[in-house]
Amino acid sequence: MATHDATGFDQTLFFTVPHRDARGRVVRLGPVLDTVLGAHAYPASLRNLLAEALVLAALLGSLLKDDDGQLTLQAQNSEGVVDLLVCDYRAGELRGYVRHDRARLDELGPNPSLHALFGDGFLAVTFDLASSGQRYQGIVPLEGETLAQACESYFFQSEQVPTLIRVAVDCSGPNAVAAGLLLQHLPEGEEGRERLHARLDHPEWDHMAIMGGSVRRDELLDPALSLEQLIWRLFHEEQEVRADRGPPLVRGCRCTGDYYRQVLARFGTAERREMVDERGAIVVDCAFCSRTFDILFDDLT
Ligand SMILES: [Zn+2]
Repeated sequence: MATHDATGFDQTLFFTVPHRDARGRVVRLGPVLDTVLGAHAYPASLRNLLAEALVLAALLGSLLKDDDGQLTLQAQNSEGVVDLLVCDYRAGELRGYVRHDRARLDELGPNPSLHALFGDGFLAVTFDLASSGQRYQGIVPLEGETLAQACESYFFQSEQVPTLIRVAVDCSGPNAVAAGLLLQHLPEGEEGRERLHARLDHPEWDHMAIMGGSVRRDELLDPALSLEQLIWRLFHEEQEVRADRGPPLVRGCRCTGDYYRQVLARFGTAERREMVDERGAIVVDCAFCSRTFDILFDDLT
């Protein structure tokens, strides 16, 4: 097995507990989280929210069997203080942003609830499979206290897969850290697609959910505890636990000047002319990474 940074930062660990029909993922974000958050000047409440969403994107994205597939999480409510949160994952690349009304956010105080941020919003979970071009989307209301609970509802309602998700976030220090555990009951194993109807009276799953649910916040976040050690601590009494590393996580953004030229080319000439500044350029900034692009008007025709 290749050697890895023992802190687990920006790493994903895949694991299965075969005789319990369970599979799982653990992720821990370090420098990647700083990079994503560093592109935005968000207050603490939104840093925490985005960190949680990035952990969830990494956990759910790492379930894709398709190496070039994409997972997108979109939490939204057009009336919300946060009207749109987007995170996506593709082949270990993570990115995300939170569109919000700063004045209304400031009125909510330092620790707003999910409902205060989104109102009666919803979460859309979308899996795009690159190999077949197929897209699977499930939408659940943002009813729980956390985005993680909404993701659990997604698996339960859309896929009928009992799933436990725990996320821990600490963005208070100079270096932000966030981590999460996902554990699922798959009666047909990792490759199985045939789902049992959602039944939570499975003794195997009940046992796994208790073990997985016992993970503590400090264990998830502790860089002195490797991801392998963390799983071993939770499941060492099991007959067999198989674990393997997923692709390293990086901040990836796919914004390019060519991409924005294509987008702008769809506007009419008169509309484009209104966007041009005194230098003859249209300035576009990427919502994900905050990079700005000067697109020359003359290049668009
Ligand atoms: Zn970008």
